[in-house]
Amino acid sequence: MKKNAIQFDAIVIGSGITGGWAAKELTEKGLKVLVLERGKLVEHQKGYIHEFTSPWDAPDHGLPDRELDERDYPVQSRIERGAFSWANRHYWINDRENPYEQAKPFRWHRTDVLGGRSLTWGRQSYRWGDDDFKANARDGHGNDWPIRYADLAPWYTHVEKFIGVSGQAEGLASFPDGHFLPPMEMTAVERALKARIEAKWNDRKVTIGRVANLTTEHNGRGPCQNRSICNRGCSFGAYFSSLSSTLPAAEKTGLLTVRTDSVVEAIEVDPKTKKASGVRVIDARTGQRATYHARIVFLCASTYGSVQVLMQSRSALHPNGLGNQGDALGRYLIDHHGIGAFAEIPGFDEHNYKGRRPTGIYVPRFRNLGGQDADADFTRGYGFQGGAMRDDWTNTAAMTDDFGAAMKHNIARPGKWIAFLGAFGEQLPQAHNRVTLNEKNPGGFGLPQLSFDVAYGENERRMAVDAGKQAEQMLLAAGAQRVQLIPVRTLPGVSIHEMGGARMGHDPAQSVLNGRNQVHGVPNLFVTDGSAMASAGTVNPSLTYMALTARAVDFAVAELKAGRL
Ligand SMILES: Cc1cc2nc3c(=O)[nH]c(=O)nc-3n(C[C@H](O)[C@H](O)[C@H](O)COP(=O)(O)OP(=O)(O)OC[C@H]3O[C@@H](n4cnc5c(N)ncnc54)[C@H](O)[C@@H]3O)c2cc1C
Ligand code: SF4
Repeated sequence: MKKNAIQFDAIVIGSGITGGWAAKELTEKGLKVLVLERGKLVEHQKGYIHEFTSPWDAPDHGLPDRELDERDYPVQSRIERGAFSWANRHYWINDRENPYEQAKPFRWHRTDVLGGRSLTWGRQSYRWGDDDFKANARDGHGNDWPIRYADLAPWYTHVEKFIGVSGQAEGLASFPDGHFLPPMEMTAVERALKARIEAKWNDRKVTIGRVANLTTEHNGRGPCQNRSICNRGCSFGAYFSSLSSTLPAAEKTGLLTVRTDSVVEAIEVDPKTKKASGVRVIDARTGQRATYHARIVFLCASTYGSVQVLMQSRSALHPNGLGNQGDALGRYLIDHHGIGAFAEIPGFDEHNYKGRRPTGIYVPRFRNLGGQDADADFTRGYGFQGGAMRDDWTNTAAMTDDFGAAMKHNIARPGKWIAFLGAFGEQLPQAHNRVTLNEKNPGGFGLPQLSFDVAYGENERRMAVDAGKQAEQMLLAAGAQRVQLIPVRTLPGVSIHEMGGARMGHDPAQSVLNGRNQVHGVPNLFVTDGSAMASAGTVNPSLTYMALTARAVDFAVAELKAGRL
């Protein structure tokens, strides 16, 4: 094994949404930083190889290569909302070469490139409310969060100011406003939905999606062109990604070194100092192993990636994995579950809109807020993401009996207005929802496979029934016809909002991290991705991971400078 002589101040493991933020904050505070990323190099602009490919120039005219996808991407190619396609297949991990076990059906969606899923995410960016941090302590599901909204509020602002989030302030305590760029525009039917729903229910609000797509030039990045092909990459830098935003900022300091194709196997801990002393890496191209050293380590390898590294870092001092003083590591996995409702909205045929807006509308949580609703047979709640748009020519073409000029005329006209609401519900943290390492079954790079044993429970089932009912009522109130309920988020992993596994907490026997994202017992090791989450809330989580990362870096650097790390 090669011992690498270079000393860094900090090592960041992973270059996705959280790793990029750790790299930016650490370098901007003057630290010499090494980023280790298991995936391949993708360069901003140059690496977005199909960004401008028209459908008629696409391989097989943009149709999926079913044989290739079934062989190499059986999990990734089933991701929701068309996030995987011929245009961005090169971003995703090869499932055949990187298998995992499913004690129960489970989707593990992951990329394999510099920038991680910051390249492919949906960019919905919401703050948690104070209630979300208090819920565990109040109803006893999950352990008490060691932080509250007030601890994170300035860091949300810090992150929003840098990444650029477009959105509308609404003044709801449970759905805090942020630092927003101008909101994107609602369609005519969305405006009608808003007016009709808000008139009927005074506890409900319909707002435009808060999204990390720029509506104005921001920090040297160009505004969004409303093309909605963001998951190919965006040369304008019009959406936030590590490649467009945080890594260039880190690079600008002259203090950043990035090593791609570097699979972190384990973090070494010095038995005398009890601190992280080195990071063991396998070169993905040569299989060679090397160890890198630094004074602090930020583990940002994604929820399951980080849990895997912590588990693989066993030693005499930490026989059950780093931070696993009780048996919390790999447990309390959580995600969002839900149901979708679709409907036709008649009466708006004279209205249309321009471009393809890369966000939808949002209905913040209104169930069980500030106590249990009398008619709710479930704990916690859900929010809805949705939208209303005109159907395109493909459905009209499929449904028409015309041919020739009549058909051309018909498919040239915009189709029916379709509205949809998709619930994102909070899953309760349960010890039995866990991931373990199977030492007997090697996967990629000969490392043990992760084995997932996760299922939704009775509370999630009841909540989804309620969400379906409420979605139907809201669509009907807005004048919808033919409402259809479709189960959409019934399989763990599908929502790609995976959280937990190394949760924060006060008690080292019940949690892996303290209130500063510091691993219990390893003071110079910080984990700031979704694995840190002690509950799931109802909103998309990545903005919270970024705020946690920036806050943890601020603390780590202050401690380092004070000689305490
Ligand atoms: C299609 C899609 C839509 C989404 N939409 C939204 C949304 O609208 N809003 C929202 O909040 N979230 C959304 N998400 C989720 C969001 O992408 C994740 O929450 C976020 O990327 C997590 O950040 P991260 O840094 O923890 O992980 P990632 O961004 O996945 O980055 C982790 C990085 O670590 C690397 N890595 C893993 N293991 C190792 C190792 N052993 N050694 C070295 N490197 C390693 C990975 O290759 C990866 O680059 C979406 C995700 C997808 C896929
Ligand atoms: S829709 Fe906007 S952010 Fe998305 S790829 Fe196009 S310009 Fe970039």
